[in-house]
Formats: sequence, structure tokens, C-alpha cells
Amino acid sequence: MRDEGLNIKMRQVREMADAKGFSSDPARIWEMLALIHTEVSEATDAYKKGQPLDKVGEELIDAVIRILHLLSALGLDAEELFEHKMEVNWSRPYKYGTVRGG
Ligand SMILES: [Mg+2]
Repeated sequence: MRDEGLNIKMRQVREMADAKGFSSDPARIWEMLALIHTEVSEATDAYKKGQPLDKVGEELIDAVIRILHLLSALGLDAEELFEHKMEVNWSRPYKYGTVRGG
């Protein structure tokens, strides 16, 4: 796995998770997925309550951190996955060909 792009952030997140005693056991995948949801919900709640956008952003970054932690726990190459998916998305038609897409 190349130490570049998202993989650098993923490594930083993993180092902190390890140092702070958080498990990276891939068997915890359901719990880790649920925790990603909670961060998105916290962002939704912060926005709904009219909190500053910085607070909404902080919760979204929490979600990114949890996603990177899970990708690390699963032994996946975040940078490669990101680059591949961006390539796939660029190859799709405008609004991905949907009629009601946002
Ligand atoms: Mg949070």
C-alpha cells in the first residue's frame, strides 16, 4: 500500500486510534459502521439546530475519521479505492443519467 493521499490520513487516524486504545478488530465492522452513522446524524442534528457550520463540519470530519479507521481495520487501500471510484464517477454521464438526481 502506497503511503500517499488518503492513505497518509488513514495511517494518522490508525495511529491515534491505537494510541487512544480504540480497537481496530475487523470483527467490529457492524459497530464501526454504526458509529459512522452516528457522526452523520450528529452533523444533521447540528445543522437542524442552527449551530455554526464549523460544528456541522466537525461532525462530518468525525465521520471521515471513523470511515478511515474502518478502512484501516479492514486492511483496505483508501487512496486506491478513492482514485478508482473517482475515475468511475468521471466516466458516468451528467447527473449519472438520472432524471431526478440532485
Ligand atoms: Mg461527533
